[in-house]
Amino acid sequence: MNMLNKIWFSYKNKITQNCTDDFVADTSLAYWQNRLFAASVVYIIPLSLVAIIPGIYIAYITELKWLIVSDIIAMLTILIVAFAPGLSVFVRKLLFNSVLYLTSLALLIYLGSFGPGLLYLLGISIFIVLSLDKKYGYIAVGLNTLICMVVGVFIYYEIGTIEILSQYGLGTWIAVSTNLIFLSAVSAALIPILFEGLQTAIVKENKLRTDLQYEQAKLKSSVEELHQKNKELEQFSYTISHDLKEPLRMIRNFMELLERKYGDQLDEKAHNYIHYATDGARRMAQSIDDLLEYSRIGRLYNNVEEVDLNSMITEIMEPINSKDNPESVRIEYSDLPRIEAVPICMKMILQNLITNGIKYQPKGQQPEIKISAKEHDKYWEFAVADNGIGIEDEYQEEVFNLFRRLHTRDHYAGSGMGLAISKKIVEQHGGEIWVESKPGDGSTFFFTIQKNMDKK
Ligand code: ADP
Repeated sequence: MNMLNKIWFSYKNKITQNCTDDFVADTSLAYWQNRLFAASVVYIIPLSLVAIIPGIYIAYITELKWLIVSDIIAMLTILIVAFAPGLSVFVRKLLFNSVLYLTSLALLIYLGSFGPGLLYLLGISIFIVLSLDKKYGYIAVGLNTLICMVVGVFIYYEIGTIEILSQYGLGTWIAVSTNLIFLSAVSAALIPILFEGLQTAIVKENKLRTDLQYEQAKLKSSVEELHQKNKELEQFSYTISHDLKEPLRMIRNFMELLERKYGDQLDEKAHNYIHYATDGARRMAQSIDDLLEYSRIGRLYNNVEEVDLNSMITEIMEPINSKDNPESVRIEYSDLPRIEAVPICMKMILQNLITNGIKYQPKGQQPEIKISAKEHDKYWEFAVADNGIGIEDEYQEEVFNLFRRLHTRDHYAGSGMGLAISKKIVEQHGGEIWVESKPGDGSTFFFTIQKNMDKK
């Protein structure tokens, strides 16, 4: 079986090689016409072997010697078409079609004008339009007309074999052969229209595909460029932050020195000035640290793990509860899920939202925080609600911007970075963050985290 398969494949490959043209693009009509021609040659050889043996036997017992001769010529020519080296595809096609004509003439002459020869003529004209340029289709129609006229003349003048003359007479022949010519002409005219339509569609699709590939490549390189730029930017802000902290440290150190060494010579005003300068430097250092944190988020993204949110909140609440009176904050949460996320990032968001909920309260009010989760098909939705001062409608988007604060430091301390960091983290986790709030009525911060984050 394996051996037979091998022989069949090398036979098929050889013919396909000879009967197709490597230089024709596989999206062109000519390519598929060649493939059809090659496939016809591949299958016609074994099929005609099967047909020719009983044909030769019948021709032998009925003494139709010329039919045997034409069978043999046809077979040899097809073998030349299939295997002879150095012939162009076009010449092979011409030879192949000549064989078909020869066969149909032999059939007309020996099996009669109303026999299979007529069907052959129609078949050839269809095959010609399928495998060659459309002008050869019209040549085939002309040839068919010529052959039918010659047979008509034979019938009229009673020349030739009894089979050609037949018992039906000239009138019937004209009726039958006109139909044959009509059908050949219809196929010569219509098949190329179908082909041209298909060809245009293929070209269009091809162009669309190339355009798409081009756009995709462009997009890919833009994304890569963006990643690169982002990395550079992160590196840049990292370096700058480090450099900026150095002079700040100097300001604080010298202020301390000033206070220690000359403190007793300075009046209260000077002490206040030193305090403002030190506090400013401290806050600036805090802002720089926050900025550093912000630029670090992109790099943290690679460490996705399973995170248990319940124990994470317990962990966050520990220092808050031990610092203040344990009863001072009421926090409610239960049955929070385990999710795929970057642990340190999840901790940052929850910590930011919880501490904000505790911080932005009217004086003397006991903070109440409620944390809940809702499962959706593709993501988790979390809500952190507080009973604090709330946020005006017009600021509910702005609060997520870098350094955006709604209150002065005298009222509520802070750097304006917490929500910007939370937003960046949520976006890294394929989610969104937003707030619903009414001034005086508390705020609820919502955020979503995409499920099935890749673990890297
Ligand atoms: P910070 O708290 O350091 O100022 P954030 O980015 O966390 O910075 O918050 C930005 C601003 O949004 C805050 O200054 C505050 O005005 C407002 N805000 C944040 N959380 C709340 C909250 N739970 N209730 C009321 N206002 C809030």
